[in-house]
Formats: sequence, structure tokens, C-alpha cells
Amino acid sequence: MTRAISLSDIRVASERIVGKVERTPTVLSQSLSDRVGHPVHLKLEHHQTTGAFKLRGASNAIAALRAEEKSRGVVAASTGNHGRALAHAVKLEGMRAVICMSRLVPQNKLDAIRRLGADIRIVGDSQDDAQQEVDRLVRQEGLIMLPPFDHPDIVAGQGTLGLEIMEQVPDAAAVLVPLSGGGLAAGVAAAVKGVSPSTRVIGISMARGAAMKASLDAGRPVQVEELPTLADSLGGGIGLENQLTFAMCRDLLDDVILLSEDEIAAGIRHAYEQEREIVEGAGAVGIGALLSGKASLSGPAVLILSGRNIDMDLHRRIVCGESFTMEVAA
Ligand SMILES: *Cc1c(COP(=O)(O)O)cnc(C)c1O
Repeated sequence: MTRAISLSDIRVASERIVGKVERTPTVLSQSLSDRVGHPVHLKLEHHQTTGAFKLRGASNAIAALRAEEKSRGVVAASTGNHGRALAHAVKLEGMRAVICMSRLVPQNKLDAIRRLGADIRIVGDSQDDAQQEVDRLVRQEGLIMLPPFDHPDIVAGQGTLGLEIMEQVPDAAAVLVPLSGGGLAAGVAAAVKGVSPSTRVIGISMARGAAMKASLDAGRPVQVEELPTLADSLGGGIGLENQLTFAMCRDLLDDVILLSEDEIAAGIRHAYEQEREIVEGAGAVGIGALLSGKASLSGPAVLILSGRNIDMDLHRRIVCGESFTMEVAA
């Protein structure tokens, strides 16, 4: 059993990634504050280099590798943003990266990873299929696996986001975190509760294929069918052999909220029209949760806008109110 990540691990990560990741701003949303009757702050992490918070964990994990490991190169399965973050981080180090993805990963994310020079493998229709290719490359080519969430250095890196939030909004009563494999939620919750134990941390997933929620309900990691969703970055399982993020989410999250595809679309639309921000589905779930009334607040809240790597044609259709039904790629 890997031990849970602590506030001091996150402080170490924070020192390690200085200069490699941006410290992103937090701004007050007047429209959301008016709506819910408490100050609502947006953590603009979608402006992070590579367009998502994943660079925090990737940079920390790469920095923690030994020279011998760096020379072997890294491999990961990804819904897109972790792969892009790794590709960016290894490029700075002159290392090799192989990114394994399923056919559910949007083309714009694939193209961005390819442009960074990473080696790409497209396998199957799910994160689990992509993971099998990762396992093969670890066995046969000796690459170092850096998974997207279930790894101490990844969780500690994502936790640096929570440290920044508590510096920027010290009186936060609640932090709303997009939730998939739980690397972000586990790290942010460890940081936030380490600094301010009474602050609530709430995870938000899409109703279509919410693996962490199903696992928390079952009391152990379970598999759910992976379905196409507007929040494509939240797709995939948590791993039946989950070492770290399941237990941390179980112990640290105060609640998990599930959103319909329409509620996620409403979040994307609100971000664009009211906040002048372009966010992807996963990055909009905090706003979607407030607009839906599913998240009730008792004081100041911080919503993490976690990424912006949405296909711009899809974004246009959503903000124009056109149909956006998610289909499985043939
Ligand atoms: C990966 C990702 C998430 C979810 O992070 P987990 O650590 O897997 O829970 C949320 N939003 C965006 C934009 C992401 O890329």
C-alpha cells in the first residue's frame, strides 16, 4: 500500500516545479456570486501551459526520476491532457515519451501531442485498452510508466494547485474539483485540508461513466463502461488495482456530484458568455454544478477550471446551442 500524499509532499513538489509550470490566477466571478449569494472564485488553471493542470503532476514526476530512468524514457496511457503534459515535460529534458490513447481521444488533443514530438499509439476503445499497450511497452522496451493519476509524484504535483488556491482564497469554504481518476481531487484535497481542515472539497464527474463515484459507492474500485461524453478528460476507470487515489478520495472528499451532458454544456456556455473563458467539458463541471443547483454552498467557493483543450468546432456548436450529441468514433 502506498501511503497517502501529505501536505509536506505537496510543498516539496511545489518547490520542484517552480519555473516549469505557471502559477495561475484566481478571479472572482460576479455572475456566479450573484447567482448563489456567496463569493465564487474561478481558478483559471485552463491557462496553464499545455492547457490543463496535468503539467503539474507530469513535471513533478519527471523531475523526481533518476538519471538512469530518464535515459530509458517514459510511457503513459492518457485521455489526452496527461499525454500532452508529459510530451511537453520530456521535451525540455530531451527524453523519449510514448503516449497510448484510445480512439475516444479527440483529434485536437492527438495533434497537439504529435506536434510536441511524442511517439503516439492508438489502441482500442477505452483507457483500459490503452493501458494494455503501456504494460507491454514497460515489459518489452523497459520504459518507465508514469500513469495519469495513481502515482505519488503525480498526486503531489496536482496538489500544488490546492496550495495556490488556499494562498489566493484563504477563506474558501468549499473547493469544487473535476473528478476522474482522482489524482487532481486527491492532491487538491490533501493540500486544502492540510491548510484548512474545515474547507469542504467536492468532486464533480459526468453521470456517463463515473468510475470513482461507482467505486466509492461500492467501497472498492469497480469497473464502469466508458462512454463518450462532453467531459472527455474525465473518461476512463480508476484501475481495479488502484493504490492511492481511491483511498485518498474516500477519506478526503466531502461529496461527489454527477452531471448530465446538458449540465456540462451549460457550464461551457456560461464560461464563454459570462466569464469570457473557453473551457473544455471537464473544466466546466464546477460551473455546471453551481448552475444546476446540485452543489449548495455555505460560504466562499473556488471552482477549478481544469482545462481548455476542447475541439473548437464542438465548442462553437455548444455556445450556439446546436446539437452536440457525443458519438463513438467509428
Ligand atoms: C485529467 C483531467 C481531469 C481529471 O483529473 P483526475 O486526476 O483524473 O481526476 C479534469 N480535468 C481535466 C481538464 C483533465 O485533463
